[in-house]
Amino acid sequence: MNNEPSNITILGCTGSIGETTLGVMETLGVDRFQVIGLSAGQQLDKLISQALRWRPKFVSVAEERDEAYVRGALTENTKVISGENGLREIAAQNETDIVVNGLVGAVGLLPTLDALCAGKTVGMANKEPLVMAGGLILETARRHGGRILPLDSEPNAVWQCLQGHDEDSLKRIMLTASGGPFRGQTKDQMVAVTSKEALAHPTWQMGEKITVDSATLMNKGFEVIEASCLFSISIDQVDVVVHRESIVHSMVEFKDGSWLAHLGKTDMSLPIQYALTHPGRQATSLEALDLVKIGALHFEEPDLAEFPCLQLCYEVGRAGGCFPTALIAADEIAVQAFLEDRIGFLDIFEINSDVCDRLSSFDKDPSLEDVLDAYREARELAKSCVHELSRHRRR
Ligand code: MG
Repeated sequence: MNNEPSNITILGCTGSIGETTLGVMETLGVDRFQVIGLSAGQQLDKLISQALRWRPKFVSVAEERDEAYVRGALTENTKVISGENGLREIAAQNETDIVVNGLVGAVGLLPTLDALCAGKTVGMANKEPLVMAGGLILETARRHGGRILPLDSEPNAVWQCLQGHDEDSLKRIMLTASGGPFRGQTKDQMVAVTSKEALAHPTWQMGEKITVDSATLMNKGFEVIEASCLFSISIDQVDVVVHRESIVHSMVEFKDGSWLAHLGKTDMSLPIQYALTHPGRQATSLEALDLVKIGALHFEEPDLAEFPCLQLCYEVGRAGGCFPTALIAADEIAVQAFLEDRIGFLDIFEINSDVCDRLSSFDKDPSLEDVLDAYREARELAKSCVHELSRHRRR
């Protein structure tokens, strides 16, 4: 990094990625950053205290009705805006250099495109937009001089492993998965899983949606599609290995048979800090990784029969078009319904699979409009599946 402060905007600043990013910025030095924009959904008081600390020029809240409350707590130097337009406005703000997208779900798609259209560097922790519209996102970045830096631990690890290597020397990518809380269980054992059990992730502290997606391995499947897009490699050259220690964050195999792996503590501040300091590195206050203490690292094949969501992602990724979008949409509805105890854990797969089967759009090369239409259609299909299933459950 040079001595000029980086102008940074954080979408989803009160979520775990947003908070970790602000923490990394504190460690790297407050005077190295100027915060241009912060956006948050519900946690208004946390947003306010972050805004008082970092004095952004813009704050965006999800709901218009919250604007006055937030405005009243901040100085006149911070402009408070709201809604999807607010989010898109701060994503594309002139002065911003880096946009950290820590949003959850498809809501991050349009702001990501806006930021890239404005030539920004976008730190992506929000994988759904890349799964839904990876081709459009890359094309927008290429055309407008925007750049994508992966912040999630696995694609960030792959990115680090690939530093200094030609794209065509890569043979395959190996993403690691902790296996989630139900690793080694059969479907029969998972029938009665509660949302509380699914939310107890063995190694990572994350938001609710992604924690449930980790328990079904859907999150890993999304990462397979995401990696195929980010690193321009066929989906069948992206493999998944279950690695319960979560110390190896991912690996790459080169054509000559050499492997490189990225190892580190399971702490999101590592990949986020690398994105902010690369190609340089800076000391952190993290406890050192002690491999002797860990003793052994284990790797095993994921069980696709017991965790069919991962297999579904491969199928959907190969099919391309609007199918990944449908899966993202269906999974949002299904996981929400599971968290509300309206459907069972295994129903998440059933709904996702059903919706993909019933999607009407088969366009191989969808436009943004096609993607948004497919997203809306799939959400409606998923809602009717949830309705059916929850009626059965109540009987
Ligand atoms: Mg991940």
